[in-house]
Amino acid sequence: MYERSLEEYRRACKFLPGGVNSPARAFSSVKENPLFIKKAEGSKVYDIDDNEYIDFIGSWGPMLFGHGQEEVVTAVEEQLEKGTSFGAPTIIETEMAQEIVKLVPSIDRVRMVNSGTEATMSALRLARGYTGRDKVIKFTGNYHGHGDSFLIKAGSGPATLGLPDSPGVPGDLAKLTISVPYNNKEYVEKVFTEQGDEIAAVIIEPVAANMGVVPPKDDFLKFLREITAANNSLLIFDEVITGFRLAPGGAQEYYDTEPDLTCLGKIIGGGLPVGAYGGKQEVMDEVAPVGPVYQAGTLSGNPLAMAAGYQMMKLVQKEGIYEELAEKAGQLVEGLNEIQAEVELPLNINQVGSLVSLYFTDQEVIDYETASTADTDLYADYFQGMLQKGIYLAPSQFEAMFISLAHSEEEIQNTIKAAAEVLKELEQTI
Ligand SMILES: *Cc1c(COP(=O)(O)O)cnc(C)c1O
Repeated sequence: MYERSLEEYRRACKFLPGGVNSPARAFSSVKENPLFIKKAEGSKVYDIDDNEYIDFIGSWGPMLFGHGQEEVVTAVEEQLEKGTSFGAPTIIETEMAQEIVKLVPSIDRVRMVNSGTEATMSALRLARGYTGRDKVIKFTGNYHGHGDSFLIKAGSGPATLGLPDSPGVPGDLAKLTISVPYNNKEYVEKVFTEQGDEIAAVIIEPVAANMGVVPPKDDFLKFLREITAANNSLLIFDEVITGFRLAPGGAQEYYDTEPDLTCLGKIIGGGLPVGAYGGKQEVMDEVAPVGPVYQAGTLSGNPLAMAAGYQMMKLVQKEGIYEELAEKAGQLVEGLNEIQAEVELPLNINQVGSLVSLYFTDQEVIDYETASTADTDLYADYFQGMLQKGIYLAPSQFEAMFISLAHSEEEIQNTIKAAAEVLKELEQTI
């Protein structure tokens, strides 16, 4: 079934570390070899062995309208005729920025970059430059790209220093990042009491989606808004996943809480490499060339990427799409809940809008510690079973299912049916 993918994977491994250009694509945590994809259309992806799958990865988020969205494709084709990069201002950059400012409540100036990683790295530098402070609070299990300051694991107490989570991250830099449990107000309060005047920023995924999907509890975001303001620290929302996914204005609109800085990626480029960071004019005016905080990019605001992104910004303003997305995801969750009631397996489902996670644990998942109770071997078996039935899920327990507008009701029902069969088989094995 996967012979050609296996062959190509072996060839790729001779030239690329692990055969992939990003580790999340390797299927190592589900004990499989990655599929090589040759094309995608709407809700479907096709591998080089000619298998067809209903795709719930959606390129890890960007494909809110499914693959090959017509307006996006046409806009890119038209731009292609005129040139791919000029290294000079273009009108489409202003138009794109104008839409972002209109849609995202807390943004009145925005800088385009090429990835989510660049957005978070740059936003943190800006927060440090603006506040004149060096420390940052992040939440364990949140992912903010691969910048050095974010690849940090927690020390052993609130006041202790962060440790590198990857070789190559300097220990001295890691000390400036304080990693605290998600949804834990007391912990955040303690850190602010002890070192509030050293904290440049708190950065958070307003809905965590990189340890599976974990919603913020009990006005956690509003709490962070207040405590950062009281300590003259900046609040940074990493909306690389939630931006344009939960609402046109992202999680900040959905939860009615405005950060000082917002990081965007994924959907904003509609499948082309785009990221952005933005916020209030007073803060953004610290960025070069207006201010002294340096940040630049040869391909930033690239016309091909902006052409795609601009169409996405227009499309997310269509009436009723977020209701439709939530309804599709709701149908899926309803189906999964029914299965959960019938099988003797540890299962817990989290959903926010079109983000869904099925955890193989009997604990409610509210942070990294509870997420870590999930049985990853069970997930691997589930993943393989679903793949064989033509359902392409993320190759990890700790990723979201991305529902798109291209998923039909029939496909959602077929996914539920497949899950019921796979989970009932799995029940027999334990
Ligand atoms: C994907 C992701 C990033 C990193 O974006 P890249 O484009 O992969 O560099 C940052 N933050 C969050 C929340 C993400 O999901």
